[in-house]
Amino acid sequence: MFDSLQDRLGSILNGLTGRGALSEKDVSAALREVRRALLEADVALEVVREFTERVRAKAVGAEVLKSIKPGQMVVKIVHDELIETLGSEGVSIDLNAPAPVTLMMVGLQGSGKTTTTGKIAKRLKDKQRKKVLMASLDTRRPAAQEQLKVLGEQTQVDTLPIIAGQGPVEIAVRAEQAARLGGYDVVILDTAGRTHIDEPLMVEMANIKVRTKPHEILLVADSLTGQDAVNLARSFDERVGVTGIVLTRVDGDGRGGAALSMRAVTGKPIKLIGVGEKMDALEDFHPSRIADRILGMGDIVSLVEKAAENIDAEKAAAMAKKMQAGKFDLNDLADQIRQMQTMGGMGGMMGLMPGMGKMKDQMASAGLDDKMLKRQLAIIGSMTPKERSQPDILKHSRKKRIAAGSGTNSAEINKLLKMHRQMADLMKTMGKKGKGGMMKQMMG
Ligand code: GDP
Repeated sequence: MFDSLQDRLGSILNGLTGRGALSEKDVSAALREVRRALLEADVALEVVREFTERVRAKAVGAEVLKSIKPGQMVVKIVHDELIETLGSEGVSIDLNAPAPVTLMMVGLQGSGKTTTTGKIAKRLKDKQRKKVLMASLDTRRPAAQEQLKVLGEQTQVDTLPIIAGQGPVEIAVRAEQAARLGGYDVVILDTAGRTHIDEPLMVEMANIKVRTKPHEILLVADSLTGQDAVNLARSFDERVGVTGIVLTRVDGDGRGGAALSMRAVTGKPIKLIGVGEKMDALEDFHPSRIADRILGMGDIVSLVEKAAENIDAEKAAAMAKKMQAGKFDLNDLADQIRQMQTMGGMGGMMGLMPGMGKMKDQMASAGLDDKMLKRQLAIIGSMTPKERSQPDILKHSRKKRIAAGSGTNSAEINKLLKMHRQMADLMKTMGKKGKGGMMKQMMG
């Protein structure tokens, strides 16, 4: 349906040979396509703007590894930034409060609020063995309370008995009382919606919130909302204060832009997604899947994975060569430290290379955290080329000079040298095992 972002970027960036850094001009050209892809995915305009600026900041000057094309590099940066913006996975509904825990569902009419109330109740009952009570506070749509009652019968979850003539706040208070008396774990309040955001709705929501002090306020929003997603999420969040978002009709949306928009403006986690009309059509939110949808195609996933693999393989191959040669000097250590910084700190790089776990432990036990990494680089940076390639010549007076130059002390220098020695030894043994041994395993 859509051209893949990769194809578009490819035609723009293929002129670049596969080496060197991305220039401002390359990135600007690529970002025009990224912007189009995001708008086609129905990401709100203001979010698109802010997002592309963040990508620009990361992409300009980014080194293009020789095994991947510049276009792939930009796609990877966009993909990673999407996932970062969409937030972490598995933020589930928080029930960590004295029972009965009150959940308040808010959103526009037709967003799927009542359906989602039933789905969440069923999920909590079936998966977490919770005793759940549901109550409809929608007194304006005559059939609303009945609709919830039917869902309750269908899912075998209790609903608060309907008393005609009560207002939303009265019903909410009664629901909490009933939940307390009945020994319920959770009470879910399904509030009324409107076709659009208006003042009386916000006042009603605020009143219910004040009286019931819900532990979670979940904004239920249709993923097909498009450009309005931002206003919707912002209004509810500013006026009522949401703690999480449930996106519905994700089954009918191939694009996923609303997820990014709502997450970006509220900063609140997307906790669950609705993927159908049935009561079990509720799933955990996976940022990577939505990121793939936003980029408009499935093959992005494998592409990004391949790019990541290539990055790792390139670095691992260079490292392996050194090891085989039994050569690992302080320049290599500095390279390693720098790579670690770009690969997301200590954990990143080493964790990605099988067989490197031991070395990671080695470095961790040497007290290497990310701040330390900087100091270590400063130490190596204050050495002469000869000192870096032959650390053995480092005696007292040289250390004193280096300490002064790097703003450290000789204890820290000794620690670095000791760590280097241990790593070099380890590499020698790994290298000796040769092609049949650990090396092969490492290189996959
Ligand atoms: P409310 O007015 O916000 O309470 O909305 P309802 O819960 O009554 O839902 C409106 C319609 O959307 C119903 O026909 C639901 O079956 C449907 N619906 C709700 N959630 C989903 C979903 O995740 N996927 C699909 N395809 N339909 C949904």
